[in-house]
Amino acid sequence: MTIYELIEILKTNHYKITAQRKALLQVMAEHADTLLLVDTIYEATKKRYPKTNMSTVYRNLEILESLDLLHKVANENGAMQYKLICCHHHHHHLICSQCGKIEAIDYCPLETLKEIAADKDFQLTAHKLELIGLCKHCAKKK
Ligand SMILES: [Zn+2]
Ligand SMILES: [Zn+2]
Ligand SMILES: [Zn+2]
Repeated sequence: MTIYELIEILKTNHYKITAQRKALLQVMAEHADTLLLVDTIYEATKKRYPKTNMSTVYRNLEILESLDLLHKVANENGAMQYKLICCHHHHHHLICSQCGKIEAIDYCPLETLKEIAADKDFQLTAHKLELIGLCKHCAKKK
């Protein structure tokens, strides 16, 4: 997802592109393959737009989330981390617990479970599956 696509989606949903919002979008677009803590997003946005405040960062993340533009995953300590979605269709991830790097897996292994749910007359609406581990870079450092 590029910054231009993001801005288009926000505009389509009647959100104004303020300087502060744009700074945050730029930060998210630049780190599109890594999960970021709110503090990290705040610090990086502040570098681009010094008057950034924390509540606006949260507000913007909420907006992105409500538009289904964010992946949100808790780290080992339970702190939330965010990243822009890779694409709009259903997919899964390999997540490095050390550096937060994410790799998308364009494959869903849960077709069998869907059949089992259907057999039980259970209407499945969604599922999440994240594979947590160490990327090759972080595995070397251990
Ligand atoms: Zn993704
Ligand atoms: Zn890593
Ligand atoms: Zn799936």
